[in-house]
Amino acid sequence: MNPEESKETSLQKGAESEAPCKKRLDYLEWPEYFMAVAFLSAQRSKDPNSQVGACIVNQENKIVGIGYNGMPNDCDDDLLPWARSSSDWLDTKYPYVCHAELNAIMNKNSADVKGCTIYVALFPCNECAKLIIQAGIKDVIYLSDKYHDKKEMTASRRLLDMAGIKHKQFEPKRKRIVIDFDSINLPGIHKETASTSVP
Ligand SMILES: [Zn+2]
Repeated sequence: MNPEESKETSLQKGAESEAPCKKRLDYLEWPEYFMAVAFLSAQRSKDPNSQVGACIVNQENKIVGIGYNGMPNDCDDDLLPWARSSSDWLDTKYPYVCHAELNAIMNKNSADVKGCTIYVALFPCNECAKLIIQAGIKDVIYLSDKYHDKKEMTASRRLLDMAGIKHKQFEPKRKRIVIDFDSINLPGIHKETASTSVP
């Protein structure tokens, strides 16, 4: 019997008269938490076609930057175009929109993001790869790689690999994390603060 087991057994014996109160086991693990923060942040995006979030985390598991895709500060997002295609490139969103990674880096609340990990919903494009490298970020954890075959992503992999930056696809343990504002008022909130469904 290992020490953990014997501790647990004695605790159970001691609490025979009362219901044992063990710590909650279905809490969010760090990577799920950071990816979920990235996804929640994406909900701020006004892009009608693509909502991407990013969350930068330091080596102490502290969040130091969050961002989502959007038009630059002080540039009216009602006047700039959101279209993906047009006969004139200037009438598409691409020349104007700031990607989530750029915003997360620029929004940092620490002196720098050297040695940090960035959690991002989509594999970063080549422009963001440049920013990630120059900012000193060392790990990229992404959820989707749906644009894997686009040239921007090929160039991005080339740059990240050359710079020795690790990139890994995130495999979530649960498909959904639901935020239910009513849960705080329910009995036993410690069990269901974040209601989850396992695939
Ligand atoms: Zn990008």
